[in-house]
Amino acid sequence: MPAANPKIAVIGAGLTGLLVAHGLQKNGFDVVIYDRDASVDSRSRDWTIVLHWALPVMQSLLPKSLAAKLSHAICNPDLAFDASVETLAVYNGITGDKLFASPMPGSRRISRQRLRQVLVEGLDVKWGKKLEKIEKTETTDADVLRLVFEDGTEDAGYVLAADGASSRVRALVVGDATKAQSTPSGLLFATAIVNYKDEAKVKSVTDLHPVAAIAMGADAVGGCGVLHVNDGKGGPARAVADWTTFVIKIWRGTLPAATSSSDVIRLLKESDSSKSLAAPFSSQIDWIPEDGSSVCYVDEMKYWVAPGPFGTDTTLDHRVTLAGDAAHPMLIYRGQGFQHAITDADNYVKALVSIRAAGWSAEARRATMAAYDAEMVERGGKAVAQSVQEAALSFDVEKVQKMLMARQGHGRSA
Ligand SMILES: Cc1cc2nc3c(=O)[nH]c(=O)nc-3n(C[C@H](O)[C@H](O)[C@H](O)COP(=O)(O)OP(=O)(O)OC[C@H]3O[C@@H](n4cnc5c(N)ncnc54)[C@H](O)[C@@H]3O)c2cc1C
Repeated sequence: MPAANPKIAVIGAGLTGLLVAHGLQKNGFDVVIYDRDASVDSRSRDWTIVLHWALPVMQSLLPKSLAAKLSHAICNPDLAFDASVETLAVYNGITGDKLFASPMPGSRRISRQRLRQVLVEGLDVKWGKKLEKIEKTETTDADVLRLVFEDGTEDAGYVLAADGASSRVRALVVGDATKAQSTPSGLLFATAIVNYKDEAKVKSVTDLHPVAAIAMGADAVGGCGVLHVNDGKGGPARAVADWTTFVIKIWRGTLPAATSSSDVIRLLKESDSSKSLAAPFSSQIDWIPEDGSSVCYVDEMKYWVAPGPFGTDTTLDHRVTLAGDAAHPMLIYRGQGFQHAITDADNYVKALVSIRAAGWSAEARRATMAAYDAEMVERGGKAVAQSVQEAALSFDVEKVQKMLMARQGHGRSA
């Protein structure tokens, strides 16, 4: 007999895990999140994410009290949002001329760290729990899965792995560690979180666009924008000179051995591809303060496409699956990653609602979760492929206009 209310374990308290947990909790499920980190803010890295076509779905998954707090995560909530603010401004990386503005109607750019701080409220998150593997137990109870962590075990009936681009659970559901490995893109992505403490320098960012701008068509893609202007708790905006901004750069290269903040600043400032970027994108890199106040990091961007729908055996009889970056890590072009993670979260909640309505029967679980997997694999694979194509076009000014970003804006395309 299937038990009444199996425990749903979510692996990973990134945005995907937190969001799906809210959706499950709102629908009356017993859900626990496990994350390897010590706390929600144990890492200093932050980046901005545009919430656009999936924003209404995201809001529907949250309790009303939290939906109202989303403004705490918005980079600059005081802007007069209109059609021109709700765009991404794209410049020619060689001349500095404006090429186009990619429309993102209704969009809001948020700080990933601040959104996590909002979403963590009201959830049961077990911190410091690094998942090693998942096994099937011999029990006939509802919680037939055993989650093995570095420091002990926990049981659950279902597992949703939202453990990010380097997902450990991916190898389990794919059934082949080699096929579960992501593909290096050959493109490095650097972020600098910068407090210029200088109004003119901040204005060099906001004059390009009040939210964010990028420059394409040169040897590097450059970008800049506002990360946050207030305390993230609904307080007033700081003076413009004290706004926190970000600078990004994407270029072809090999990940350096040393990647401390000061190494990354030096790498950014000294490389020819930074110097050849049009002003003010090149100047914003030159101005990054070297007084220890800037958080800078670099990674090689990677992507992964599932080789096909997951098997019954590898998903432990359709009790384990993936969502978010674990399921479809993609290159950051056109900001689609989290939109698809939101779509996964919504679909997963609906799948469990439907399995519960069928009395938690094994037949319902197999059919429903196989359908969830098949849809997610197809949609995610398409979005990943599009992100790789966008990247290939972004370094040649003749080809930039062929990008989906130029032809179709940031709208849903997978
Ligand atoms: C610079 C940048 C800009 C982006 N811009 C956009 C944008 O504009 N629009 C958009 O839609 N998307 C954007 N994205 C993508 C978006 O950030 C991700 O899709 C989104 O954050 C979802 O992440 P996640 O929760 O799936 O994974 P993560 O954020 O990686 O979270 C995974 C979590 O799992 C935990 N974990 C990992 N392994 C284990 C383990 N073994 N055991 C327990 N816990 C574990 C980690 O500690 C982490 O908390 C951007 C990404 C980047 C990097």
